[in-house]
Amino acid sequence: MKQINKIGVFTSGGDSPGMNACVRAVVRTAQKHDVEVVGIKEGYKGMVAGYFEKLTSFDVAGIIQRGGTILRSSRCPEFKTKEGRQQAYDNCKNQGIDALVAIGGNGTFTGALYFEEEFGIPTIGCPGTIDNDLFGTDYTIGFDTACNTVVKAIDQIRETAASHNRLFLVEVMGRDSGFIALNGCVAGGGEAVMLPEQHDDLPRLMQFLDEKSQHKIYSNIVVVAEGDEAGGAIQLEKVIKKEYPQYDVRSTILGHLQRGGSPTCRDRILASTLGYHAVEALLKGKRNMMAGEINNKVVLTSFRDSIEKTKALNTDLLQLSEILVA
Ligand code: ATP
Repeated sequence: MKQINKIGVFTSGGDSPGMNACVRAVVRTAQKHDVEVVGIKEGYKGMVAGYFEKLTSFDVAGIIQRGGTILRSSRCPEFKTKEGRQQAYDNCKNQGIDALVAIGGNGTFTGALYFEEEFGIPTIGCPGTIDNDLFGTDYTIGFDTACNTVVKAIDQIRETAASHNRLFLVEVMGRDSGFIALNGCVAGGGEAVMLPEQHDDLPRLMQFLDEKSQHKIYSNIVVVAEGDEAGGAIQLEKVIKKEYPQYDVRSTILGHLQRGGSPTCRDRILASTLGYHAVEALLKGKRNMMAGEINNKVVLTSFRDSIEKTKALNTDLLQLSEILVA
């Protein structure tokens, strides 16, 4: 096993609250082992373009509470090409980087997998995405903060919804996965949820609106994942307005609000734990894996499994979301 003297760390794809806490943990853990750390700015874009910066323990002071990512993030089409990855490898080699910690989501780990297969730089991933859609970890870094943002918004919307007897559709992030929508709905006391994973939620919503309408209860909150097949809140609003003119419907799209904000305690602990374990894993010769947490234990899952296997929604929570509606 080749000795590791310098680790490159980067954040990539959609930013998520807690990425900074993770970078901090990577830098400080590496420093305890006398391993240098180089921050690669803007994810793969910086790797291809050569945006490198040495990071010491002092450089990551005062960032644990900050949302976003001090290393910045980006989407980088060049990295999807062999030429782009070759350029990235040449730059890493010139920097003397002999291992990587990649903080990001599905796409980031797909890139890392190709990069490792082609050039052999050992890489460990930390799941940094608000979507919580990665197999091999119960929660991803940023998911808890995003859910808390959603719950706060629902609480506020409910007050105005009740005052005006309005039906509110709250659209949350989740193109392919409904984790934020489901957790946000249950914790926010939403009356119904629309999820990309379910294909019968529109007729069920219709039935629900029929029943409520019979009792003249018009103030309800429906949480809609952006990727639901109804087409998001705006499309759904059109359908409801047409079918149920008795409802006064409004839509709120939470959008990028969900990405920002100071990470919750839970996200900071998860990010710190996984950042620490990512470095420890590299130093023990592990590679090509994502560090995650399952049942409160740190687990390494191959990049291939974390990308290709699907994490199912929590069926108990799904059931709860239906049972707890008045
Ligand atoms: P999020 O889940 O928050 O969107 P992500 O990591 O999935 O995060 P992506 O934009 O899908 O975000 O991927 C981040 C970057 O990873 C891409 O911009 C690209 O540089 C690289 N990447 C994605 N897919 C591939 C691929 N098939 N081959 C090589 N690189 C890839």
